[in-house]
Amino acid sequence: MIEVRELTKSYGPTVAVNKVSFDAHAGEVLGFLGPNGAGKTTTMRILTCYLSADAGSATVAGYDVFEASVEVRKRIGYLPESAPLYTDMGVLEYLNFMTQVRQLPKSERKERIRSVIDTCGLAGVIQKDIGELSKGYRQRLGLAQSLIHDPPILILDEPTSGLDPSQIIEIRNLIRDIGQEKLVLFSTHILSEVSATCNRVLIINNGKIVANGTPDELVSQAKGEEIVHIAIRGPQEEVEAQLSELDFVSQWTHAETTDGIAAYQINATQERNAAEELFHVVVQNGWSLTELRKESADLEDVFLNLTDKEYTQTQSQQSAEQADDINDNDDA
Ligand code: ADP
Repeated sequence: MIEVRELTKSYGPTVAVNKVSFDAHAGEVLGFLGPNGAGKTTTMRILTCYLSADAGSATVAGYDVFEASVEVRKRIGYLPESAPLYTDMGVLEYLNFMTQVRQLPKSERKERIRSVIDTCGLAGVIQKDIGELSKGYRQRLGLAQSLIHDPPILILDEPTSGLDPSQIIEIRNLIRDIGQEKLVLFSTHILSEVSATCNRVLIINNGKIVANGTPDELVSQAKGEEIVHIAIRGPQEEVEAQLSELDFVSQWTHAETTDGIAAYQINATQERNAAEELFHVVVQNGWSLTELRKESADLEDVFLNLTDKEYTQTQSQQSAEQADDINDNDDA
């Protein structure tokens, strides 16, 4: 559905998008994750024909974004970071206006408006003026306008930005629902957003794609080795001699010994199931096992490794706080 090759765009000396290449397929919710200034908006604006590129190519549903922009725009719904809403218009009036902008046949307009009101949960506010709507409802209306011509592809720039936790959940659920039928490409700088919503993630940093895969793939690619924490009651010297001989253990460190129980951190290669093998070693030697725990890497580790650490640490702290808020909200 979307094919991007070596796309490059500079603003003066700033290379905003640097040889970006990726594909996106029907039926995907693709998260475009990166810190602020990474190049997400610029890429999206090129794909939606609002901006030209300096080099590279991009096609949407087989149409070249530079040469067939009308065809591309027909197939794309776009929600920019600030939704293009006219605050003094009524909700219905605005949707009707958008059917005209999109040049939908008169005979289809009513049905399309009804459909987006239904999909975006706007039935309760159709009598209101846009100026009276909460930020969450404005965002739903922004989504509704992007869907009005029933495009197969939706491009959403930071769709949950500025929303409160319960509004974020609503918009994420909406994106997931819409993603059942359409290709959705949405950008975010919030990590928890992609794990909650996407089947695939593109991580972008300083204008370059630095990772591309499902959240699980990215985690396992980045891990490389597995860390297992183990505590053993047994003859310490013998235990350590055995650990040094195990071919799947690349490194072990002794953490502490308390009441005859020695605790270790084991770094193991990923090809084998280290936890299971360690369990057998302990049993075969007649020692006792008091702890066996795998340390799991998560998407946050991958993100921190691939992007500017100092910056993203602040971001991930914020998103962790936000995730807590959302969890509290979910619980309530
Ligand atoms: P993101 O959406 O990931 O936050 P952007 O695509 O908005 O990133 O920006 C990428 C880089 O391009 C940033 O360094 C930003 O400052 C720069 N940039 C974006 N738009 C402009 C512009 N109109 N003029 C100059 N620089 C810009």
